[in-house]
Amino acid sequence: MDGNVNEFDRKTVFAAIIGRPNVGKSTLLNALVGEKISIVTNKPQTTRSRITGILTKGDTQFVFLDTPGLHKAKDKLGSYMMKSADGALDEADVIIWVVPTATRPGKQEEFLVKKLKGMEKPVLLVINKTDGESAVAVGDTILAYAPLFDFASVIPASALTGKGVGIVLDELEKYAQPGGWTFDEDMMTDSSQRALAGEIIREKLLKTLNDEIPHGIAVTIEDFREKRDVYSIRAEIICEKASHKPIIIGKNGATVKKVGTYAREDMEKLFGCRVFLDLYVRVKEGWRDGNLSKYGFDD
Ligand code: GDP
Ligand code: MG
Repeated sequence: MDGNVNEFDRKTVFAAIIGRPNVGKSTLLNALVGEKISIVTNKPQTTRSRITGILTKGDTQFVFLDTPGLHKAKDKLGSYMMKSADGALDEADVIIWVVPTATRPGKQEEFLVKKLKGMEKPVLLVINKTDGESAVAVGDTILAYAPLFDFASVIPASALTGKGVGIVLDELEKYAQPGGWTFDEDMMTDSSQRALAGEIIREKLLKTLNDEIPHGIAVTIEDFREKRDVYSIRAEIICEKASHKPIIIGKNGATVKKVGTYAREDMEKLFGCRVFLDLYVRVKEGWRDGNLSKYGFDD
């Protein structure tokens, strides 16, 4: 029976999704929560701040912590992991470690295993991107990673097709703690819709601009209004160099228009209402050295 879950049966599990850049962490998070909330791109390290996805199903609330991935510092091998990834690990009851099929563990994985051994938390190993791979390739990947650690479970999956995603949820549920839910039942994320709107625009920019201006771009939401089920959003795209502006705008505005159309479509799906989106492009030299929190960065 659905609905009206007894308050005393409500439980919550916090899960951190970790792994190298590009292994499919954001895609998995979206598949788990069933909505597009974390930014997905084929460029590594575009998730700048931790995004929390929330799914409430039956009496269990699943809270997901997406991390920017594992980094290997150029100088110190031991400090390859980013601060925010560490934070997510501390907060989590369970850790989901994502590795893609047909890869093998290396130095980074050895360091990660050392860290996991010191934490004594259950770790689920998700062998992702099994779609299009042979059973032998999947099996070999399992054999390469499984002996590294005493995993609570090893799950072959495809974040893209949804295969194995239900099993991840079933496994996570085992570690849910009684004591109620942390968030409202119908909440998918604790990031504001404003922040999500900014993330979506930034994702579309990165995808549309290819490698022309990838990283010197920020998006600020200048105005966000809701009126009779229509959201009116005004956003600024901030670039570092005057020469970038015409590239972002495109011939007769074609590029920024494309970004706006794709972003609006995603927002309408996510917010469940009509969206009017106004995009402006502004040059602000050296914005990266200024007050970063204004541009949606945590620190
Ligand atoms: P992250 O950096 O770990 O968050 O990775 P993303 O979720 O942004 O995914 C990186 C790329 O891998 C994107 O192009 C995804 O579409 C792709 N991807 C993610 N999961 C799968 C999967 O299960 N199968 C395949 N074929 N591609 C995937
Ligand atoms: Mg990501």
